[in-house]
Amino acid sequence: GSKNIGFVGLGNMGANMANNLIKAGHKLHVFDISKPACDGLAAKGATVYSKTAELAKNSDFVITMLPNNAIVESSYEEMTADGVNKNTIFIDSSTISPELVQSLQKKISAKGARFIDAPVSGGVPGAEQATLTFMVGGTEAEYNAVKAVLECMGKKITHCGVYGMGQAAKLCNNMMLGIAMIGVSEAMNLAIRQGLDAQVFADIINSSTGRCWSSEVYNPVPGICPTAPANKDYAGGFSSALINKDLGLAAGVAKSTNTPIPLGSLAGKVYTKLVEEGLGNKDFSVVYDLMKKEKFS
Ligand code: NAD
Repeated sequence: GSKNIGFVGLGNMGANMANNLIKAGHKLHVFDISKPACDGLAAKGATVYSKTAELAKNSDFVITMLPNNAIVESSYEEMTADGVNKNTIFIDSSTISPELVQSLQKKISAKGARFIDAPVSGGVPGAEQATLTFMVGGTEAEYNAVKAVLECMGKKITHCGVYGMGQAAKLCNNMMLGIAMIGVSEAMNLAIRQGLDAQVFADIINSSTGRCWSSEVYNPVPGICPTAPANKDYAGGFSSALINKDLGLAAGVAKSTNTPIPLGSLAGKVYTKLVEEGLGNKDFSVVYDLMKKEKFS
């Protein structure tokens, strides 16, 4: 049936996810620090709040889709400081550290409500089309309680284990994504510089062993994938700042588990450079531009 769902963080991902919940017949209670983001959802029928504590008290489920650890932490602090509606299940779908998930879970369960991690993969196209993959960390009962709601936004909802295991899966996926996008950018650039046609080479990869999401759905070279950010000057999508954050989170768990990630660390350095060059707000496939500019040294 129709539920009251709070949604905090209406950016590139959150706006589309919230919209799919409305389409599925739920009543949305929303907040974002950006007024245009709130206006966009109000136009689709959501109720806009100025205080997240009030939003949460009116919600059966609250979904947060925020940039990073610091913002997620302060947002929950503000939202739950004066107590919680004990029937609310808080679902964080941002990409944050497993440690922060565990600490938020302890704080919120101490107040009497439930909190789980459910980060997503599939990018903005997946958010638009409601085909995201959700990686859920929590108890079996919590997983069963949130599954139907997550199914309004995604097509694969997987229970990964205890609190933080959703993020454990997400960080490893995104480390691969960060490496793969650089790999596709390097290979496309090298092919083009040898005189190959970009489309011919992209078609070859996509029916060969080099094929991956970054080559097939999100190719960094303009003109290959019609809806990819490469065709709109790398606007929208998944920002370089966010993949850089994710590689930092991956480096953190690699360190705490004593695990070697030579390419993951190198990829982190490449995206840090993009951010330092002022491209933090562009989609991360703009890394292709960096490859185009660089000479062999
Ligand atoms: P975004 O920057 O487009 O959106 C973040 C939104 O949060 C913005 O609208 C911003 O105004 C809002 N915000 C910031 N501080 C706030 C606060 N204190 N209270 C309320 N709202 C606040 O980011 P995004 O691309 O939508 O990503 C959100 C999260 O999802 C990140 O953790 C990211 O790593 C993860 N993610 C992104 C993608 C992607 O492809 N873009 C895919 C999977 C996961």
